[in-house]
Amino acid sequence: MSKELFDEARKFLVGGVDSPVRASVRPFPFFVKGGHGPYLITEDNEKLIDYVLGYGPLILGHANDAVKRRVIEQVESGWLYGTPTRAEVELAKKVVGHVMPGGKVRFVNSGTEATMTAIRLARGFTGRNKIIKFDGCYHGAHDYVLVQAGSAASEYGVPNSRGVPQQVAALTLVAKYNDLNSVERAARVAGDDLAAIIVEPVIGNMGVIPPARDFLRGLRDIANKYNALLIFDEVITGFRLSMGGAQEYFGVRADIVTLGKIIGGGFPVGAVVARPEIMDLLTPSGPVFSAGTFNANPVTMAAGLATIEVLESSDALSRASRAAKEVSEYAESAFKGKASVNRVESMFQLFFTRGPVTTPDEARASDREAYARFHELMRRHGVFVPPSQFESQFTSSEHYSDDVIADTEEALRSVVSEAP
Ligand SMILES: *Cc1c(COP(=O)(O)O)cnc(C)c1O
Repeated sequence: MSKELFDEARKFLVGGVDSPVRASVRPFPFFVKGGHGPYLITEDNEKLIDYVLGYGPLILGHANDAVKRRVIEQVESGWLYGTPTRAEVELAKKVVGHVMPGGKVRFVNSGTEATMTAIRLARGFTGRNKIIKFDGCYHGAHDYVLVQAGSAASEYGVPNSRGVPQQVAALTLVAKYNDLNSVERAARVAGDDLAAIIVEPVIGNMGVIPPARDFLRGLRDIANKYNALLIFDEVITGFRLSMGGAQEYFGVRADIVTLGKIIGGGFPVGAVVARPEIMDLLTPSGPVFSAGTFNANPVTMAAGLATIEVLESSDALSRASRAAKEVSEYAESAFKGKASVNRVESMFQLFFTRGPVTTPDEARASDREAYARFHELMRRHGVFVPPSQFESQFTSSEHYSDDVIADTEEALRSVVSEAP
């Protein structure tokens, strides 16, 4: 069935998909007709344990009852009003309360929109143009951040997509993650035109790469020194590492935090959070433009609110982390000498390389073909892990179950014995 659907899809959709990583699933993308808890059910009636979880949002697993109830309730009353709603205010209060007490939030529709808005806001606030991003960090699909390192001798970025103007990429300097000297160099080059430093506090888009000790604090210091803003892109880490996200987890404060994924409970969402002095520059209060037909969509707000209420009132976050700990420790011992594993709470990834992976360059140097085989073999044994080395594996609260963990470990054992 999936095979036929994919053949049909390729006639009408570019590459048969609507987001590129989905096309990497081997031997061809499977189509899904349902999900519950930690499981996906494919059109071929396979039941897979899901470590992709929509690429991050589903911290409570698929079709969580509390979320489902609130979404259905909302849908019964309509789903788009073009006016503010009660749930929007309630979710705003919770998000701000956890992430930046005293601050304000703007809801948008994706992480991409969140980082785009955050960067425009930082430029509007500082009156400066340049930003520093990190090689290996992903902040969505817009021009400001589709930039990669240029020639070795320069901090200036170059487009990493056709269609991104050189002139736009030239405003983005690219530094090396976990290398404060490179950040200091880039900041010096940008000088008094540096508006912001944007970073994934834990990289979740190069596999998983945690920050070195004092790296985030070092970024804070450099941002202060240059009077630039520090933007934590917490689209993955927000409400996953802790209720206060990476800021709370690592004890370092950002000026602007971008959120997405989890706060929409599995519906499209993004958010920007900062202190009022910064946020009030956004339209309608200020001159920095931000708008959206679907911003704070009532169904998204209902799902996000239900999700955060469950996280507040249960041990869901720690269950997700414990599941990840068990599975990743098992994987590490099963693949001893062949792969190394990075984990921060409920996000982890294997790299087929001997040494520890502490930088994006080390992640790129690992055996990606071995990873792709791992993905394909795991799927044959009933486990869906990301098709790309450069994604994170995620667990939900529902993965903390003896069955799920035992079945995953059995799959890992089989794959180790089959892999060449
Ligand atoms: C997923 C992601 C984004 C982009 O979010 P979308 O909702 O896919 O646009 C931005 N930043 C990070 C860190 C992400 O993981």
